[in-house]
Amino acid sequence: MRLLLVEDEERMAQALCEILRQESYEVDHCADGLEGLYAAETGLYDGIVLDVMLPGKDGFSIASELRSQGVRTPILMLTAKSELDDKVTGLDCGADDYLTKPFMTRELLARVRALLRRNIPTADGRLAFGDIALNTRTSELICGENRVRLSEKEFRILEYLMSNQGQILTREQLAVKIWGYESEAEYNNVEVYMSFTRRKLHFVKAKTESKAVRGIGYELRYGYV
Ligand code: CA
Repeated sequence: MRLLLVEDEERMAQALCEILRQESYEVDHCADGLEGLYAAETGLYDGIVLDVMLPGKDGFSIASELRSQGVRTPILMLTAKSELDDKVTGLDCGADDYLTKPFMTRELLARVRALLRRNIPTADGRLAFGDIALNTRTSELICGENRVRLSEKEFRILEYLMSNQGQILTREQLAVKIWGYESEAEYNNVEVYMSFTRRKLHFVKAKTESKAVRGIGYELRYGYV
């Protein structure tokens, strides 16, 4: 697995390269935003760890340029502060996940592993999991011969769950990703919309289920009894 690290703080970058290489990742490092963008555009990488504040070009602009060019390499954004604005802007720009500095090595490695497991849509825009597929162009949920159109929020929830197969997504992650905000109200929305998506899964007679994991969040399961 080959990673691109775009980080300008030298000590931080050195430490991250070392940690990631110890885990047997091949790591290329860029200290400048523009240089990082050019490297990422090659499409050679399985994942990108991207700092926000960079000389040359900031992490948000890099992420959105890559996405607008159709480069779908998963991106983990490193934000310098815990401000929600940073997380939301990062996810809006097309980053897949964010991690707030300072972070624990263990946390970084867990996020990188999760990033590399991400399910990426095929060239024709289909995202598959278990017995279901999502047409990301028409927002249709498909199971065999059955299909149903999803509302915008239902689509984004299922897309997020299917992209992160094998992972439990917390209510917090879902609230930030779908509503751009975390609060009690958004947590309730997550539950309401999760029940809507369950109905759509039921409608197309899918065996794939969106399961609530008590006290943690939600995950997609297929093939469990
Ligand atoms: Ca920086």
